[in-house]
Amino acid sequence: MNKLTLFGPPDAPELYELRDFLQRSVVQYDWVDVTDDLSALPASLRQAYATGHRAPAIAFPDGQVVLNPTVQEVAQHLGWISKPSSQDYDLSIYGAGPAGLSAAVYAASEGLRTVLIEREAIGGQAGTSSLIENYMGFPEGIAGAELAERARQQALRFGVDILLLREGIKGTFYNNRIHVDLASGDQLVARANICATCVEYAKLGLPNEAQFFNKGVYYGAGASEAMFCRGRDVLVVGGGNSAGQAASYFAGFARKVYMVIRKGNLAATLSDYLVKRVTTTPNIEILYHVTVQELAGDHVLEGVKLVNSQDGTATWYDTSKLFICIGGKPNTEWARDTAIIRDPNGYLVTGPDLVGRAGFPECWPLARPPYHLETSVPGSFAAGDVRLNSVKRVASAVGEGAMAVTLVHKYLAELDKASA
Ligand SMILES: Cc1cc2nc3c(=O)[nH]c(=O)nc-3n(C[C@H](O)[C@H](O)[C@H](O)COP(=O)(O)OP(=O)(O)OC[C@H]3O[C@@H](n4cnc5c(N)ncnc54)[C@H](O)[C@@H]3O)c2cc1C
Repeated sequence: MNKLTLFGPPDAPELYELRDFLQRSVVQYDWVDVTDDLSALPASLRQAYATGHRAPAIAFPDGQVVLNPTVQEVAQHLGWISKPSSQDYDLSIYGAGPAGLSAAVYAASEGLRTVLIEREAIGGQAGTSSLIENYMGFPEGIAGAELAERARQQALRFGVDILLLREGIKGTFYNNRIHVDLASGDQLVARANICATCVEYAKLGLPNEAQFFNKGVYYGAGASEAMFCRGRDVLVVGGGNSAGQAASYFAGFARKVYMVIRKGNLAATLSDYLVKRVTTTPNIEILYHVTVQELAGDHVLEGVKLVNSQDGTATWYDTSKLFICIGGKPNTEWARDTAIIRDPNGYLVTGPDLVGRAGFPECWPLARPPYHLETSVPGSFAAGDVRLNSVKRVASAVGEGAMAVTLVHKYLAELDKASA
């Protein structure tokens, strides 16, 4: 496919969502800064930008030009928005991160009629990683988005229905089926489901934080912003692997990267290879015992006030790029009114972890105990980071996705036997 072209002023906040979606979806695009020479622009755009248009525009390879495109419109134009091909699936999977993608590949390859629902871009958290270096089989590492794109193609080859930019918002269980309401108003029905929805990014909790959302404040590693960090000072908040990877990646573009860490060391939260990398990269400075206290700017972020918790000193940093990589909480609101047991933080409780929880075993209708990845509703499974006590790694999410499918087969065989 020919490349798309994105147009806009470099700091237009509306561009972030588009760039992030394209980058995570491994769609190649050119970028034209419309604050430079306008003469090379298509005529319609030349006129718009010359008369003060500030928002982005996109030119598709077929020549169509759209002003102010939404992510939905871009996905639609790329042919990625499809309707469910069936009313009733064997298996519905929510979340197309490593856990959901792996489950989809295994399920469809083993003959289950499978639908995979993803509210944003394919790849989940892993898709935002600039380079995954510890996933087996890729000695040079692999960009998370590329790994996810390979899995997407594999899933499609096996016949998975992938519904992109749709969000499951409410689940109901009856007639041995899960009925899920999507934000779009559609409803999906399946005999079994796997929840692999994982986390909502955590916020700093500062009063004016929302004002700078995508206007200098970004949640997650934001790899698509790298080229706009050239020659600038960048702040990355967090001491985990996502923050370490982001700092290391941005260091290749930025003048200086400051890693803002609440604690006094990195060893407990960061993999050893990343500790070595961030502590030896000359333009990364680690600020220990420091938290973000204030954000400032008119329309976009211009400065960040950091405070050292040990000596109380406060310092303002001039920056228009603050990346917040401090984890998050599980996205399981869809299960709120169901019999699915969640822990106080919202993680889905499965298998042996259900024993001793309030409401269990009263809610459990079967003679057998729940399978290892099964929630407190028979046939409803959880895999990956969303599951209580899971290991937060790509490999374990992939493994749990595959394992959940084996348990789905067992559950469906039970249903078939009972109705025979
Ligand atoms: C920047 C970064 C770098 C990382 N690097 C590494 C690494 O190098 N090695 C490693 O092993 N691990 C790494 N990790 C951790 C790893 O990415 C996660 O453990 C893994 O992605 C978890 O997979 P998952 O499928 O459970 O969830 P996720 O990857 O979070 O995917 C969940 C998906 O569900 C979707 N979703 C949420 N709610 C809904 C809904 N209601 N309906 C539909 N879809 C929904 C989300 O949009 C998301 O795409 C990294 C994480 C980050 C953030």
